[in-house]
Amino acid sequence: MKRSLPFLLCFGLLSGCTSGGSGTQPSEAQFFSMDTLMSIRVYDGNAQQALQAARQAVTRLDGLLSRTDPDSAVSTLNAHAGDGLPVALDEQTMEVLSFSKSIARLLPGCFDITIAPVMDAWGFTTETRHVPAQEDLSAAMALVNSDKLLVDETASAARLELAGMEVDLGAVAKGFAARQADAALREQGVTSALLDLGGNVTVLGCKPDGSAWQVAVKDPQNPDQALCVLSLEDETASTSGGYERYFEEDGVRYHHIIDPETGYPAESGLLSVTVVSSNHMLADALSTALYVAGPEKALAFWDSRDDFELVLCTQDNRVIVTQGLEEGYRPAGEDRGYTYEIARR
Ligand code: ADP
Ligand code: MG
Repeated sequence: MKRSLPFLLCFGLLSGCTSGGSGTQPSEAQFFSMDTLMSIRVYDGNAQQALQAARQAVTRLDGLLSRTDPDSAVSTLNAHAGDGLPVALDEQTMEVLSFSKSIARLLPGCFDITIAPVMDAWGFTTETRHVPAQEDLSAAMALVNSDKLLVDETASAARLELAGMEVDLGAVAKGFAARQADAALREQGVTSALLDLGGNVTVLGCKPDGSAWQVAVKDPQNPDQALCVLSLEDETASTSGGYERYFEEDGVRYHHIIDPETGYPAESGLLSVTVVSSNHMLADALSTALYVAGPEKALAFWDSRDDFELVLCTQDNRVIVTQGLEEGYRPAGEDRGYTYEIARR
């Protein structure tokens, strides 16, 4: 099952502006990469070259970070698990591995890129999804431990200590791709663009009329409708939710965000987490990690930092928006029973 674009994109009307932006038509590319549909809209600069460069940047990263491409850097690392030999890696793969380990340290028990064997046990990597037998799950869980992913920055190499361990960068690769695509666009003089890399929406600058981009966060219970709309400039909004990828067995729904402590889909009281940040990769990784963490831990973590904001949708129909988004967000689901509150420091 492939997903639709996880955000509803509100382009608004590009009319009514007084500057030369009026009526600007975007140049657009849509393509499939990192197992998801991606779209990029560019409103100025060398649009065609920019689109091509951004797309190439994403595709190149997919070629490094994919677990299913046998020639990728990650596949090479995985293939050498347990053999004691460090695998020399490029700078970008090294950066994603180190960053992922740092998120695992900041939010213990919530984020682990060595989750791959568990994803396999559930069949999430294949089309035969199923609840695993307890012994299969236990065997997979014994291989999940990112402390046993040894990353040697000086040697630009990494190694997985146990045979059977595997890295899966599904929670963070699209954020890294967003950063590289963003940079590629800017290099071609783009100052106004909108990227949706499968759940990671990045905006460059403002709309051509000079106003902020309006990005709708999906209602996790009615994904065709908006939960709220965010005004964004030069930021990424990354959403993780159990509604994006799941299967049902015996009337129970099982989704693809796994609690690394239990090996089961995370049940933390949240339906979705949206992280807004100027740091693309942080937004992506945290949306997954804070979904596992649950509302209390997520808000406590937000309180300890100043580099991201949150929209949390809870199982009891509360939408908690952190203070930094207060000015720029618009509730959109009151008619569906949601109540909105602002979390303050
Ligand atoms: P999506 O890929 O749907 O945008 P996420 O960014 O939340 O959603 O990433 C989910 C993916 O991350 C899963 O498909 C799996 O590859 C991986 N993953 C699942 N649970 C975890 C976890 N607790 N820590 C790190 N990665 C995870
Ligand atoms: Mg993520």
